[in-house]
Amino acid sequence: MNILLSEEGIFPITKNKEGVPLKKMPNTGMSLSGTIQGEGLLAGTPSLFIRLAGCNLRCIWDKGNNEYSICDTPDSVFGKIKTVNSSINDIVDIIRHNLGNIKHIVITGGEPTLQAKPLALLCNKLKDEFKVHITLETNGTIFDEIVAKHIDLFSISPKLTSTNPDDRKLKKFGLTQTDIHKNHNLKRKNIKAIQSFINLTKKTNKSFQLKFVVTKPEDAKEIKDDYLNNLSGWSNDNIFIMPLGATREELKIFTPVALEMAITNGWRFSPRMHIQLFNERLGV
Ligand code: SF4
Repeated sequence: MNILLSEEGIFPITKNKEGVPLKKMPNTGMSLSGTIQGEGLLAGTPSLFIRLAGCNLRCIWDKGNNEYSICDTPDSVFGKIKTVNSSINDIVDIIRHNLGNIKHIVITGGEPTLQAKPLALLCNKLKDEFKVHITLETNGTIFDEIVAKHIDLFSISPKLTSTNPDDRKLKKFGLTQTDIHKNHNLKRKNIKAIQSFINLTKKTNKSFQLKFVVTKPEDAKEIKDDYLNNLSGWSNDNIFIMPLGATREELKIFTPVALEMAITNGWRFSPRMHIQLFNERLGV
């Protein structure tokens, strides 16, 4: 069975599926496989990433002053960069040759649950062969029980109204409106799906985090009114506030608002260590 990955796919790696060293070294600048998880509960943990292509949302953030920031993984979403159709067995082989002492695999996107069937199979094999911890990074719009069964940490990042790709924003990026853009505001909030992830952690030793990317103080009210007040089974320790920031410069601008929001509400602040360390490089 195959799965569609974004171009950088599995990263950072130094060997191919046969274990032969690659000519190109990773974008981390280090001549070794692996990086750290930069965000949330496991920030700083050595990890390998698998990035699946495609998303059911099209986020464009409002940064204020008529400035906008497009999804920080546009290659996974907007089809600007090639995707790679990989067999599950090839992915498992690549992981085998690059895992070393790493015990954490992060499945990210795009929105990985769009490919639920092959993803469940991949996670099953990764667990079976390597006994790794698996984090699923999801926008929280789709709950798939079969995928969830194989995941240890649900890293759910629900989107706020500031991400809606309205006409103004699309114009700014020279994009034409599609049905996905039109439906973004309807689809981005799925309380039932998020609650299903949370409920599953109560019956198992799985865990979850709700990671909100913020740009302004008013986002706190929306986080409470639209999400937290409609969900149960969470505590402040599950809530991570993260500044918008695809570059170090952007991060500097939005870190104060995220820090203040986290402290005021008793929530947790999430760094974006990979941006601090590697700035805007992909595949790090
Ligand atoms: S949900 Fe995530 S991957 Fe999808 S468009 Fe939004 S930021 Fe990008």
